[in-house]
Amino acid sequence: MRIACPFCGERESGEFTYLGDASPKRPNFAVDSGTGPEAAEDAFYDYVYLRDNVAGVMREYWYHGGGCRSWLVAERNTVTHEFGSVTAAPGAGAAKPAHAGE
Ligand SMILES: [Zn+2]
Repeated sequence: MRIACPFCGERESGEFTYLGDASPKRPNFAVDSGTGPEAAEDAFYDYVYLRDNVAGVMREYWYHGGGCRSWLVAERNTVTHEFGSVTAAPGAGAAKPAHAGE
């Protein structure tokens, strides 16, 4: 299985670490005003513990520890293990080489 890192190119999957589903969004209680403590607790429980068991394409976080040390968001088919698009995770850029500041 090979993953096309947007910074390093196509690499063996052994260089990457799987984190998990990239689709859950953290509940924003400031925006969701009017929710009681029980509803807020339920929403946060869902965010932390509950995941869909997708048979098909899903968005996942991957870390390229054996390369550029960037967090990536990859689309992967969980049935065939084929990768689709691979992009940098929001807010995560490629690690800068040691000589970049020179
Ligand atoms: Zn990379």
